[in-house]
Amino acid sequence: MRVLVVGGGPVGLALGLALHRQGIAFRHIDRLAAPSPFSRALAIQARTLEALEPLGLVQPILAEALRPRGVRLHLGALETGFAFDHARHPRFPSVVILPQSRTEALLSAAGAAAGAPQLERGVELATLDAGTGQVVLRHDGGREEAARFDRVLGADGAHSLVRKAAGIAFEGAAYEERFVLADGRAEGLAPDCLHMFPGRGSAGFFFPLPGGSWRVVSALPPGAPAPAEGDLAPLRYPGVRFGEVAWWSAFRTSHRIADRYRAGCAVVLGDAAHIHSPAGGQGMNLGIQDACSLALALARGEGALEGWAAQRRAVARMVIARTHAMTRGMLGASLPVRALRAVALRLVPVLPPARRRLEGALAGMDYPAPL
Ligand SMILES: Cc1cc2nc3c(=O)[nH]c(=O)nc-3n(C[C@H](O)[C@H](O)[C@H](O)COP(=O)(O)OP(=O)(O)OC[C@H]3O[C@@H](n4cnc5c(N)ncnc54)[C@H](O)[C@@H]3O)c2cc1C
Repeated sequence: MRVLVVGGGPVGLALGLALHRQGIAFRHIDRLAAPSPFSRALAIQARTLEALEPLGLVQPILAEALRPRGVRLHLGALETGFAFDHARHPRFPSVVILPQSRTEALLSAAGAAAGAPQLERGVELATLDAGTGQVVLRHDGGREEAARFDRVLGADGAHSLVRKAAGIAFEGAAYEERFVLADGRAEGLAPDCLHMFPGRGSAGFFFPLPGGSWRVVSALPPGAPAPAEGDLAPLRYPGVRFGEVAWWSAFRTSHRIADRYRAGCAVVLGDAAHIHSPAGGQGMNLGIQDACSLALALARGEGALEGWAAQRRAVARMVIARTHAMTRGMLGASLPVRALRAVALRLVPVLPPARRRLEGALAGMDYPAPL
């Protein structure tokens, strides 16, 4: 079987390692000449550690990652919160924090150590006929190469050419809100905790990073003007001094899901198959789980592949619905939503079942493990 993996982000790298582990040969390409240095996804869930365990990734991740102690909620003059018990999974902490660039570096190093086929950088999938498996690969410098594959696995991100060429629709809608994020130094926050500043204006979230710096993400209200490049004004919260910024980014996002995960020789996974709001840090996690389970399904055969597509799409639908509800709950400005939010955020810290449920969702333990 001739297999092409398109995309060398976290999902493509996990897929390459998992395919190699199953003894499946493949070619692996990414159009970027070098990996992205940006931290992007931070959270790695217990469910994802479980998927990465057979690939030998758990110890390297836990050795570098930060294990957050709990959540602090800043509700006007009231600061409240709760500690994680990290017991939602029998072996792994509920959630750990590691910048995506480090997760990708660890996946690459594990692939190299295992002798997996090398990622061919600077090679773009230019065209795909999903019916015949015929592709054109464009190398840096312009050389074009025609080839044919039995399977083309699209881990090529939200704007996936594999998905578009296979005629797979990406259903959903864009969020009106604009998000601004920055990685930098912060003072005034309890260390090693996630901090939330819900509010009518720009809700803010601070995440501790390994090494002592912080990520802040702010959701601007719908209709707010686009901030000027590097503007820190949307990232100011009471009692917090934030500066020495290493990375600043403003972005919009959507909630979308592929209407099918397979068409002809094409299969899509990761951001190529589903994208969500940043609430709950789910995107990369679901994608890595898609990848590890896809390799197993391909090794087992056609029936398993069909089961994989159905199960992973059902899980993504559930996660998108939940993160969408969470996003509306955190950002909604109507009176009923604000009232409900104020009550819920005061109750969660004092109600153990609610705390456990929230921690279970952050751990990815509220949906089924990949088949
Ligand atoms: C600012 C920001 C913050 C985020 N925060 C979080 C978070 O906290 N938690 C979380 O879980 N997720 C987060 N995400 C989402 C997370 O980064 C993605 O879910 C994750 O990167 C998806 O991985 P992927 O491998 O599917 O796609 P990508 O990381 O997009 O990788 C796709 C790869 O495919 C390559 N490619 C694309 N087209 C082609 C082609 N035609 N030929 C060859 N190569 C191609 C690209 O060069 C790229 O390397 C965040 C994203 C952003 C932008």
